[in-house]
Amino acid sequence: MDELMLDGNAVAGVLSEVFAVEMTTATMTCGHCGAAHAVGAMHVFRGAGIVLRCPNCDNAVVKIVEDGNRMWMNFGGMQALEMIH
Ligand SMILES: [Zn+2]
Repeated sequence: MDELMLDGNAVAGVLSEVFAVEMTTATMTCGHCGAAHAVGAMHVFRGAGIVLRCPNCDNAVVKIVEDGNRMWMNFGGMQALEMIH
């Protein structure tokens, strides 16, 4: 793993603010390669925002930007998000 990279557990808190369910075990299906992984297994990169990348093909599955009390989330790289409620 890249030393600047975290795993998906690092963003579970942020995602739980939006999705009021347990997010570490939610499954994201990559829109590029079709691989399905638990959020906790996604590769997380933090810079000006947060990018969750597919551990199989490195596709940017989710992009998150926060600015004070606002948040933008882009799921353009995701085929599906499966959550247990
Ligand atoms: Zn992928």
